[in-house]
Amino acid sequence: MEQCMSEFRVDLMAGKVALVTGGGTGIGKVIARQLGLHGARVAICSRKLEVLEATAAELASEGIECIVFQADIRDIEAVERAVAGTLERWGALDILVNNAAGNFPARIEDLSYNAFKTVADIVLQGTFNVTKAVFTAIMKERGGAVINITAPFEHMGVSWQAHAAAAKSGVISFTRSAAAEWAGLGIRVNGIAPGEIGQTEGVDRLADTLTSETQVRRVGSPEDIANAVLFLASDAAAYISGVNLYVDGGSGVDMLKVPVYE
Ligand code: NAP
Repeated sequence: MEQCMSEFRVDLMAGKVALVTGGGTGIGKVIARQLGLHGARVAICSRKLEVLEATAAELASEGIECIVFQADIRDIEAVERAVAGTLERWGALDILVNNAAGNFPARIEDLSYNAFKTVADIVLQGTFNVTKAVFTAIMKERGGAVINITAPFEHMGVSWQAHAAAAKSGVISFTRSAAAEWAGLGIRVNGIAPGEIGQTEGVDRLADTLTSETQVRRVGSPEDIANAVLFLASDAAAYISGVNLYVDGGSGVDMLKVPVYE
């Protein structure tokens, strides 16, 4: 097993099974890797099988047990196959990370009706599809932790991002409702709202419309998000459910975005 660069105990996730949607690329890949380096067995799913397989091979070279499922999260049968396949292989599914999403910058006047629907279908409906499939197949009986990768779009409007902001706000609301409804079943449901995260295609695509000003004076890394996932998925967060945790370098609390101390 490779040494993991992390503040957490190396066996924090030992014995756990996780499913990470969109786990073949970007932030999802680093989440899958960090869960695996801390002892979890990890299933990843998305649409591009060759990308998933390349990631699984990379993770395997670090000693991580990883299986892949080709599944568009809009396709309920494909989602159910991925969940069933994970259970067939490992007999458990303790952690679900709803990370898959689609996004692009566009003004409302340029957004086609279909483009808005596509983002809502992937981000909001897709999150619901996977969560419901995992709940029904295993978590209703055995409990678990669901972590939805959201966005810091909860309290403000976002130009160029009306579609993604609307869909992610729906996910944040769903996070709270599921947390409330399932608390008695030992299921914790939380959100993580990443700020501007470097080394990701997402930010590369949106780069012209974003600022890298944060209170901690750096752009975030995928590891910053993976660390939050490790915490919220672990027993250290046993009393936390229904939150949307901002991991954004403090930028969400600064209205003026004018540095006071360099
Ligand atoms: P990314 O590299 O574009 O990853 C998106 C992943 O979702 C890909 O692996 C993609 O794989 C998968 N995906 C897309 N549509 C799918 C579908 N219909 N079914 C199944 N999988 C699908 O994005 P990222 O930047 O790492 O972002 C990861 C998460 O963080 C997203 O939820 C994003 O909204 C959130 N976030 C990111 C930032 C940032 O700064 N990057 C900021 C705020 C929030 P396939 O193409 O193979 O399907």
